[in-house]
Amino acid sequence: MLQRVSALPEFNDGALVKAQAYLDGQWCDGAHGRFEVRNPADGGRLIEVANCGATDAQRAIDAAARALPAWRARTAKERAVLLRKWFDLMMAAQEDLAKLMTAEQGKPLAESRGEIAYGASFIDWFAEEGRRIYGDTIPTHAADKRLLVFKEPVGVCAAITPWNFPNAMITRKAAPALAAGCTIVVKPAEQTPLSALAIAELADRAGVPKGVFNVLTGSASVRSAARLTAQLPLVRKLSFTGSTQVGRILMRQSADDAQEALARTGRQRPVHRVRRCRPRRRGRRRARQQVPQCRPDLCVHQPLLRACRHLRRLRAQARRQGRAAEGRLGIRGRRAAGSADRCGRDGQGAGARGGRSEQGRHGADRRQAARTALGGGMFFEPTVIANVTRDMLVAREETFGPLAPLFRFTDDAEVVAAANSVEYGLAAYFYAGNVGRIFRVAEQLEFGMVGVNTGLISTEIAPFGGVKQSGYGREGGKYGIDEYLTVKYVCIGGV
Ligand code: ADP
Repeated sequence: MLQRVSALPEFNDGALVKAQAYLDGQWCDGAHGRFEVRNPADGGRLIEVANCGATDAQRAIDAAARALPAWRARTAKERAVLLRKWFDLMMAAQEDLAKLMTAEQGKPLAESRGEIAYGASFIDWFAEEGRRIYGDTIPTHAADKRLLVFKEPVGVCAAITPWNFPNAMITRKAAPALAAGCTIVVKPAEQTPLSALAIAELADRAGVPKGVFNVLTGSASVRSAARLTAQLPLVRKLSFTGSTQVGRILMRQSADDAQEALARTGRQRPVHRVRRCRPRRRGRRRARQQVPQCRPDLCVHQPLLRACRHLRRLRAQARRQGRAAEGRLGIRGRRAAGSADRCGRDGQGAGARGGRSEQGRHGADRRQAARTALGGGMFFEPTVIANVTRDMLVAREETFGPLAPLFRFTDDAEVVAAANSVEYGLAAYFYAGNVGRIFRVAEQLEFGMVGVNTGLISTEIAPFGGVKQSGYGREGGKYGIDEYLTVKYVCIGGV
């Protein structure tokens, strides 16, 4: 069978494209040969990358352990200088890194540029935060004793990251880890290893010492990442972003492998890609463009919806987004497009009205044509689907596409209860003018993050993370570095 090949774009700096893993400061082949990275826009093969296995994982972790004493012994300022250099190099290469990301991830180029700046901002922020890791002195309980609290790096860390943010999910973990004095082994998603390797190349150029930052690439079938977590006690912390299902596997595995170490190291599992709820009370504003991989639930106050004005606006917005992105919004590959499509059709079958479905987007007769038009099923047009009820698939499943189900509500209590009824709790958004209502609803929502009158809340200076099945731990802000620090109590007697 003929294999489709998709060309990589032209780069100013072609040396950013790497096909080997980055272990112990060296570019290495993997124990399992190579695996293919595909262009999600057309399914074509872009490049083959080192397929690492358990021995490579062990090597990476050993290297990180060897590098740890010297790295943690550096002053915070010395580490900050290197991180800042890394940040500068990343921003200087923004265009190339964005092109690389779009090639392997599929998001529009403007989104990729934005992600590079967002990802780099974590390095900038934590370069500074690393210099503000303060300990404590505690008023003593005995005249001849002095009580101190030191904050120390947890040690060797591992990070397993997903494909939706191939840059920022790595920097959000690696930057605080390195700033805190930890070393790290990153296992990027098998779909998007190129962005991770380019980050490694820039770390190398910035002068990050060998073994401090490692990238272990691997295919889904080899799952060397799984081995990573089994390397305790050397790996003292695992940070994972991905599906709840895999998060659970990793948690279980950690517990089975080394319960003591788990209790000591306090692993985290922020699971970030979950459904969002947006109770929308006074729809003065239009739906903003969502993070493409997040599916927003839109809840609209019944009287507003009856007026139909808001539904029309939302649909117009969705159409504009689709046009701006040339229809190429928010989907990576057939699996995600299929999931959005399935949910849309289920909703329509159960009586919901789809924004584009009225024109046949989800209509069975024209579905095939629509799929072909949207890149053979690789893309999904932004769609608002109305009259959705909580029992529909679209209300329960993470669709991973720009499909926004629209629910009606009559009062605050109803919409808050509905939002809190989901097992996930990453982020909720709502629109309101009344100050009392803003505080009341924000406090009642069981989510790790709440956006009020804005859909854009992600920033390196604030804590990102969820509750319930959306995991735990916080990334970003002053809280983000705590995840990579451990508290040591020192009691000095006889003084
Ligand atoms: P997604 O649905 O976004 O692909 P996953 O949770 O499947 O999310 O993947 C997120 C990350 O977890 C990826 O780097 C993937 O390689 C890794 N991963 C998936 N399954 C496992 C597993 N069983 N053990 C270790 N890592 C895994």
